[in-house]
Amino acid sequence: MIRTLLLVSCLISLVLLGILVAGCASQPGPAVSGPGQAAAPAAPEPAAAPAPDAPASAAVIYTCPMHPEIEQSTPGSCPKCGMDLEEKK
Ligand SMILES: [Zn+2]
Repeated sequence: MIRTLLLVSCLISLVLLGILVAGCASQPGPAVSGPGQAAAPAAPEPAAAPAPDAPASAAVIYTCPMHPEIEQSTPGSCPKCGMDLEEKK
């Protein structure tokens, strides 16, 4: 039993060494290409352009003329009196 365990441990260590060697040999490739890609930042301007448009369209709030405390982002009826909500200005 002990001999077989030693053999298995030796085999495992050999396999681990092989993996380590292979890993060390393959690491320089991605490591070099990684910083190269990060060194070229793309212009973030297109992403910032659509931002101002979103708040303008989502700024509409619907409220009840009798219950100003009722505020909804979608049209509907007042939960207190049932009146149609009006666009808040
Ligand atoms: Zn109401």
